[in-house]
Order: sequence, then structure tokens, then C-alpha cells
Amino acid sequence: MTRKKKGVTRRRFLEQVGLAGGSAAMYETMTALGLINLPEAWAGPPELPQGSGAGKSVVILGAGIGGMTAAYELTRANYGCQIIELTERAGGRNHTARRGTVIKEVNEKGETTEQVCNFDPDLYLNLGPGRLPYHHRRVLHYCKELDVALEVYVMETMANLFQSDKAFGGSATVRRRIANDMQGYISEMLAKAVKEIKAGKIEYRVDKTGNVHAPVGKVKFTADQIAENLVAFLEAIAKAKPSSAKGTYLKGATVSSTMGPGIKLDLAGYR
Ligand SMILES: Cc1cc2nc3c(=O)[nH]c(=O)nc-3n(C[C@H](O)[C@H](O)[C@H](O)COP(=O)(O)OP(=O)(O)OC[C@H]3O[C@@H](n4cnc5c(N)ncnc54)[C@H](O)[C@@H]3O)c2cc1C
Repeated sequence: MTRKKKGVTRRRFLEQVGLAGGSAAMYETMTALGLINLPEAWAGPPELPQGSGAGKSVVILGAGIGGMTAAYELTRANYGCQIIELTERAGGRNHTARRGTVIKEVNEKGETTEQVCNFDPDLYLNLGPGRLPYHHRRVLHYCKELDVALEVYVMETMANLFQSDKAFGGSATVRRRIANDMQGYISEMLAKAVKEIKAGKIEYRVDKTGNVHAPVGKVKFTADQIAENLVAFLEAIAKAKPSSAKGTYLKGATVSSTMGPGIKLDLAGYR
């Protein structure tokens, strides 16, 4: 027989705190119990004593945001800084491609590949980081201090809401639902199209010179089936004649097998 534990479990206790005081009270309680490690509060950039670096020099490896920030702060405290960067450009993983940007990469064989960005003039793509959440306070601090222009970041996720007066009765709909429904509709349409084609449906295309092409049969079709398709096709074309069209609408028709010679048809009754 197992003995039941007496008292309140930690989980149960936290649940009760949450029920009574909400998530904030539960968060505080968990912090007090040492269950959550609070990040250090950020009190601003390091304040190096003015002139503390006088006569000292520092070599920094890498001109990424880390290396450049270190150089920026050390220089302010009078350190002589030199950044050594492996590549031809500063920024590290921060890399924005615009028209004319050359992107060099070394592939697995050790060969260097080169691509030139050919975007329209105002377009760009952040190949590395592009999102600065509100809690990236250090970076935001330097953006403000160095006057770096920021833009609103549109976070695109499956949880985004889509709203159009023309769809879903005008109500906002979750993108995930639209995407899933769309996949369902496409599968259904595809299944229908495949079924129709298997059943002998024909589709025609018109080329630049006004010639209409359409398959009317397959090897397995009987002569009667092919003749029936041919008649249906000619009738469809004759029916499509616009009321404004004058003169001979159907000038000629030829039937042939895939690589065979063309046989002219007598179109009496279809012109
Ligand atoms: C695709 C992608 C998307 C990201 N998205 C975000 C985002 O949206 N928001 C965000 O906050 N962060 C994002 N990050 C993370 C962010 O890019 C990094 O945290 C940040 O760039 C790190 O900066 P860093 O200076 O430490 O390193 P890096 O940017 O990597 O810079 C290191 C530099 O050191 C150079 N180097 C390396 N070795 C040597 C050497 N031996 N000698 C000389 N130079 C050397 C390198 O060439 C490079 O220029 C993303 C990263 C990637 C790859």
C-alpha cells in the first residue's frame, strides 16, 4: 500500500498563488523561491573612467557588432583601438543586400562563389539579423546614440490575422486557417482535374497567330470516341464565335497524330 503525501506540493502552492493573485504574483513567488533566474537589470553602457585607456592599446578581432561596440566604448575612454577583420567588410553577421551588393561565399570544395544583388533601387534584404525586440536594450541604446534609422518590423507568422471586406464576411481570420483551407481547396481541385483528364476531358490553347491546338484522343480511344471529341471540339469553337465577328470564323482545321501528317477537315457546317 502506498502512503499518501501530506501537505501542499510546490506545484499546488504556485497554482493557488496564481489563482489568487494572477500571473504577476506567481512570477514574483517563483523568483523568491529561486525557480526563475532574473536577467540582470541593464543600467546603461559600461562607464569606463575617462582617460583610463591613455597610453594603452587594444587589438580587437572581428568587426561584428560586438567588436565595433567594444572599440567604440574603449576609444571613448582613450584606449587606442585597432580592429582586425577577416573579411572585406565590417558588420559581421549584420549584412544588408542592396542593388550592387556582392556576396562572396566559399563552398564545400573551397571554391569562391560570387553573386551580385540585382534588386530594384529601393529594395533591400537583411541577410542576417533584421529584428530588434524591445528588450535588446543595448543595441537600441546604440541605435539611438548613433542615430541609426529604425523601421517597424512586421512579424509574419501563421498567427497573423487577415482581414478583407471581400472575404470571410469581412471578419479577421487567422492566417493558419486560410493556408490550411487553401491547401484543402487546391488538393480538391487537383483531384477533380486529374479525374476529368483521365475521363477524357480536353483543353485547348490558342497560339500567337490565332491557331487553336487541342488533343482530341489517345492511343487507347476508339475511332468513334475520337470522332465524337473532334465534333465536340469544333462545336465548342463555333459556339465561341463572338456576335460581333464578321466573315469566316473557322478558316481551316487539320487533324494529325503526334508526329504524323496533317489531314485537312471539311468544315462545312462549322464556319
Ligand atoms: C540569419 C541570422 C539572423 C539573425 N537574426 C537576428 C535578429 O533578428 N535579431 C538579433 O538580435 N540577432 C539576430 N541574429 C544574431 C546576430 O546576428 C548576432 O548575435 C550578432 O551579429 C553577433 O555579433 P558579433 O559581433 O558577436 O559576431 P559576428 O557578427 O559574427 O561578427 C564576428 C566578426 O568577426 C570576424 N572574425 C571571425 N574570426 C576572426 C578572426 N580570427 N580574425 C579576424 N576577424 C574574425 C568575422 O568575419 C565577423 O565579421 C541573427 C543571426 C543570423 C545568422
